[in-house]
Amino acid sequence: MNQRLRQAHHGRADLHVHTTSSDGTLSPDQVVREAARVGLGAVGIADHDTVGGIEAGLAAAKEVGIILVPAVEINTDFGSDEIHILGYFIDHRSPALTANLERQRNARYERGRKIVERLNDLGVKVSFDRVQQIAGGGAIGRPHVARALVESGYAGSLNGAFAKYLIRGAPAYVARHKLTPFQAVEMILEAGGAPVLAHPGIHKHDELIPELIEAGIKGIEAYHTEHSSVQAEHYAKIGRQHNLIVTGGSDSHGPDNIKTVEIGSVTIGMEAVEQLLCCSSTQQKSTG
Ligand code: AMP
Ligand code: ZN
Ligand code: FE
Ligand code: FE
Repeated sequence: MNQRLRQAHHGRADLHVHTTSSDGTLSPDQVVREAARVGLGAVGIADHDTVGGIEAGLAAAKEVGIILVPAVEINTDFGSDEIHILGYFIDHRSPALTANLERQRNARYERGRKIVERLNDLGVKVSFDRVQQIAGGGAIGRPHVARALVESGYAGSLNGAFAKYLIRGAPAYVARHKLTPFQAVEMILEAGGAPVLAHPGIHKHDELIPELIEAGIKGIEAYHTEHSSVQAEHYAKIGRQHNLIVTGGSDSHGPDNIKTVEIGSVTIGMEAVEQLLCCSSTQQKSTG
């Protein structure tokens, strides 16, 4: 075990990690073990539109003695842009939440099918069965289609597959089921969680922040892999001004993915975890 690595991360939290339950490459169990290995005190599993990885994450966290922060990342639309809303300490067993997320995942499934149809119309022979296999039962996303394209030789890399076929404006692009950020905030509040605006530096819609606060967001993800230090400071300041919890995370999707981002490469102090727990109405006892 790398002692220096452990010390650097000790008592810190990476609140934004994806698993195989959505488009990450590590299982919830592997994510938690990696978080413990690098010395984190807490890790947030925040998969796209699913809480399917939380139970396994909680079990692993109990074994290795770190805190698993149950979370979800809901993809929403604002005009032609995407806004992501994180939900922390949600009651992952809430029937309303699981039903809402299931609807989102069904929409992802339908969209995946449509993307494959478009590809087939273009003469690109990938099958939806294969895409589903790659997704392994998790929430289907474009990265899974990208993987199918690469393995069949239609693109040289996952990024290439996106650029050629999957990005907005590309020939096989299909829009996702529309959900507003406000609906996502509502879904998270309803499930007892603390809604947090994800990586605002990517979305670049600062004008929405006051409305989102009114809708009930409790935090802002100032620290994120894609934020520059100037952006991080900008959003941390906005957070402090509005009394929001300032959060952070790597948004790691695991190794061997579109971009490899190490778990623990972006962290926040453990006080953020406490604040999020205080702000949520489900005081989960399962945090080891
Ligand atoms: P989806 O949820 O199906 O819309 O896919 C979104 C995921 O695709 C994001 O989490 C990124 O990991 C990945 N992604 C989005 N845009 C690109 C891009 N231009 N190049 C590579 N990956 C991308
Ligand atoms: Zn993702
Ligand atoms: Fe995101
Ligand atoms: Fe993410």
